Amino acid sequence: MKNFMTPNYAPAPFILTHGEGTKVWDMGGKEYLDFTSGIAVNSLGHAHPRVVEAIREQTGRLSHVSNMFHHEGYLKLCKKLCELSFGEMVFLCNSGAEATEASIKLARKFFHRRGENRPKLIAFEGGFHGRTYGALSLTQSPKAREGFGPFLPDITHVSYDDLEAVSRAIDQETAAVFIEPIQGNTGVRVPTPGFFKGLEELCRKSGVLLVADEIQTGCGRTGRWFGYQHEDVTPDIMPLAKAMGGGLPLGAVVTSKPIGEALALGIHGSTFGGNPLACASGLTTLEVIEDENLIRRAEMAGRAFINELREIQKSTEIISAVRGRGLMIGLELTTKAKPILVACRESGLLITVAGPKVLRILPPLTTSDLEFTKALEILKKVVSTAHAT
Ligand SMILES: *Cc1c(COP(=O)(O)O)cnc(C)c1O
Repeated sequence: MKNFMTPNYAPAPFILTHGEGTKVWDMGGKEYLDFTSGIAVNSLGHAHPRVVEAIREQTGRLSHVSNMFHHEGYLKLCKKLCELSFGEMVFLCNSGAEATEASIKLARKFFHRRGENRPKLIAFEGGFHGRTYGALSLTQSPKAREGFGPFLPDITHVSYDDLEAVSRAIDQETAAVFIEPIQGNTGVRVPTPGFFKGLEELCRKSGVLLVADEIQTGCGRTGRWFGYQHEDVTPDIMPLAKAMGGGLPLGAVVTSKPIGEALALGIHGSTFGGNPLACASGLTTLEVIEDENLIRRAEMAGRAFINELREIQKSTEIISAVRGRGLMIGLELTTKAKPILVACRESGLLITVAGPKVLRILPPLTTSDLEFTKALEILKKVVSTAHAT
């Protein structure tokens, strides 16, 4: 079949046709365990009956109204996100990059309204915040940036986990620091305990806003509703997307009332953002996470799975580190990650990479014990036959 796609992706050489829970099937009928969750999106697995029903019901009633009108889902979803987090106000959009963009605009506008000149932003080396110009300007990856410049000015990148470096970078014109509680796309890096708390203190002392990019870590993935809750930190602004939409495009910016009010009438918006269909899917997803006790499940299953992976690590020289929180897990390898990913795929286990030598494992929070055991067997077999390069 002639392929009309731009070449920016390298999809697996088969076509997926349907899924149920953690399992997906391709056109040839081959079954896989999906430990990618569509890159931390499908936290309830595929085709969760309650989400399917919510979308079906909503699309038969009202799928889009634009933001000229209220609809119940928008109001309920904003309320729910605030109940689950530090938030008091929410803006809804369609994706992670859009949530990052809105967070950048919000941080700058907040100070502008107070008559303060604070255009500068700080982000971390190895961080990932999205692919639009603002978000990409915060993302330091050379591969993502090459040939796309110039970028937003007034952005400084500092070393992750280095409070001294942040402290040196902050000045009176700094508006915000953007941080992922765990760096997702680059290595599943978990910061040293105390770093996030120290960052919060630095921000408070200098009046800088703390933006926790929870697009990947949010909505239960790490065994808490949000990654910042592991560290007893309170961010000022939190972009969300990925899992919160339950598979439909949905993003959010969660913030406090004083900051949220800076997004005044008419100054920002999105035609699709928070439309009834996406909100029905998102709200139901959050409700299912609550009703099925999946935050606790992510914590416990993640702990057990990480322990098992550490056992496998003892039997091979190609795994140099196992890290992560809840069901956001990284395996640092001494060899290239892609061939391991391919071998797992051939054995029926789908996983992702997070850098050239890191495997990233993101199972649905609903994955059963039996499915974890099966995935471990495949991983064990694959790494025991792989050779260090
Ligand atoms: C995926 C991701 C984004 C970008 O989200 P998109 O929906 O792909 O635009 C931003 N930040 C983090 C931490 C992410 O993991």
